[in-house]
Amino acid sequence: MTFSELELIEPIQKALKQEGYTKPTLIQAQAIPLLLAQNDLLGCAQTGTGKTAAFAIPILQLLHLQGPQQKGSRRIKALIVTPTRELAIQIGESFASYGKNLHLTHTVIFGGVGQKAQTDMLQKGVDILIATPGRLLDLMNQRFVSLRDVNFFVLDEADRMLDMGFIHDVNKIIAVLPKKRQSLFFSATMPPAITKLANTILDNPVRVEV
Ligand code: AMP
Repeated sequence: MTFSELELIEPIQKALKQEGYTKPTLIQAQAIPLLLAQNDLLGCAQTGTGKTAAFAIPILQLLHLQGPQQKGSRRIKALIVTPTRELAIQIGESFASYGKNLHLTHTVIFGGVGQKAQTDMLQKGVDILIATPGRLLDLMNQRFVSLRDVNFFVLDEADRMLDMGFIHDVNKIIAVLPKKRQSLFFSATMPPAITKLANTILDNPVRVEV
């Protein structure tokens, strides 16, 4: 399996080559075609399997194919919620690297630091937002973030999210997402509480396990 067999657009293939990736990992080979076909996805995968690229690449491609975004009126169309600041930063770097030849913008927001730099970025308008749950809710409440135009929602490391006590925050975020969207849910483990949460978010998902 090669990236070109996955029918990725040229600017993304070029970025992957520049990154030194020669072939997709198992989860990428399985998930990318399903996501490009706009399925919801339940991914049972740990960090280190290449899961970030498995969701970032199809989101970048589908957003790119939606056509040019007007400067100044960019709205958040993809939301990735992840439990920690470190993961949020890593995911942001992945979107930057795979999307370097596209004209899409992203920003990363997390708690524990001042909000000014983050709200400045948000006010310029971004296509893709990567966030930890507490800071996201905070900035939603202050009206710096609107999720009205979200087409793609990713809940990353769901089991860790629950372990860290973020379930109420996550539920509040889900409640305001548009019903018509593509949702992706990743967790390293699938205990009953996680399966239940997945069922409230996903619509007829395809399950991928690595
Ligand atoms: P992740 O599981 O998303 O945290 O990714 C783990 C690491 O694998 C990251 O450092 C990625 O840059 C790297 N990686 C992801 N996909 C590939 C690939 N297809 N080929 C080589 N390295 C990859």
